[in-house]
Amino acid sequence: MPISDEFAGRLLPVLEEIVAAYGTPFHIYDARGITETYRGMVEAFAGEPYRQYFAVKALPNPAVLSLLLAQGSGLDCASPIELELAARLGASTDDVVFTSNNTSPAEYRQALDAGALITFDDRAFFERVETLPETVSFRIAPHGLAAGSTLMGDAAHTKFGVPANELVEVYRDARRRGATRFGIHGMICANELDIDRASRAAVDVIELGALVAAEAGIELDYVNVGGGLGIPYRPEDKPLDFGAYADAIVQAQKRCFGNGTPRILTECGRYVTGPHGVLVTRVINRMRKAREMAGVDASMSALMRPGFYGAYHHFSLPFASDRPEVEIDVVGALCENMDKFAIGRTVPDPTVGDIALIHDTGAHGHAMGFTYNGRLRPAELLLTESGDVVEIRRAEGFDDYLATARWQPRTVVRGCGSHPAQEAKEAK
Ligand SMILES: *Cc1c(COP(=O)(O)O)cnc(C)c1O
Repeated sequence: MPISDEFAGRLLPVLEEIVAAYGTPFHIYDARGITETYRGMVEAFAGEPYRQYFAVKALPNPAVLSLLLAQGSGLDCASPIELELAARLGASTDDVVFTSNNTSPAEYRQALDAGALITFDDRAFFERVETLPETVSFRIAPHGLAAGSTLMGDAAHTKFGVPANELVEVYRDARRRGATRFGIHGMICANELDIDRASRAAVDVIELGALVAAEAGIELDYVNVGGGLGIPYRPEDKPLDFGAYADAIVQAQKRCFGNGTPRILTECGRYVTGPHGVLVTRVINRMRKAREMAGVDASMSALMRPGFYGAYHHFSLPFASDRPEVEIDVVGALCENMDKFAIGRTVPDPTVGDIALIHDTGAHGHAMGFTYNGRLRPAELLLTESGDVVEIRRAEGFDDYLATARWQPRTVVRGCGSHPAQEAKEAK
């Protein structure tokens, strides 16, 4: 949906100046909006033992992650590179949760050395590891749970987690192997906007956690309900009531655990930064094909959600509101027909040179970018608390595109046969 009035009120007065000085396209994030959303989450839990770990994959920019760490947020990492990023940002052991799947022994070792709170996604892997972390946690597979959101895919085909009916046994195994501290993890929704379904999903994890703990004879230090909270992408969407979500969780926690309440952890990414970013681009072509089209100077390499899964991102022309409207497709320059930011949108008739905004790019936007077709990833800017605009990632250029290429091939295995031309010469 359109960016907040507060963000718009600070961005739009300086936008033409930024574009003139810096060029397009770029993502720009609102530091104030991000910190306010984070603080709101903490306040909603009102002193209950709670911590939010930002899902690094949603917006892995050091400046934004530092901002969140400074506010007291932890980081949720799911790969070795994300773990390294957290370490370089000075995140200490209890600032990091590690929630991977299809995990390799090497990355498990890295998470262990980092002292992260590790969630095991798979039972066979758990049995293979020799050293257990200080706190052992398993991820619950979503099947069998009530809320199962379709966006996570068919629950019966999930690749995530340990089936609910095996949990008691794996915790008993863990205890037998000497584990003394335990957590449990369950993430059942994705981009969920419905408060009842989101709450139900979290409550399911708490209830199942309590049952499993009682039956396995363990106490849970924490229940991690994961991320997956939605943001209103469409103008008609209503924002999720995080206060109601937190209330439902706290009630379930008290009901199921009484006074020995485990801490609640969340791993939200999208909810924290999603609405506080916008992709700024410029109209470079106005075309009439089978449909009316406006071509912009960003491509899906800067934001792949619309092309990849038909996701809606609001599109606007902030300085063209007095023009007559037209129904139009907004396209990028990639040689793929799916490279469209908007299809059949009614907007003021775009004109070459217009500044255009693609909204809600603060999560899973730049991060999902790629370099196919040499349409490289754009810059990231940050609108700081004091109103400065700073570059927090430059745009990629030719050297980045070829940074990993070997101009002089490096021999990996030397073949034992000689070249046919060589053989012919030697035979003479
Ligand atoms: C992707 C992911 C998240 C964050 O999801 P959002 O939709 O951005 O909140 C959290 N935890 C895990 C394990 C994930 O895979």
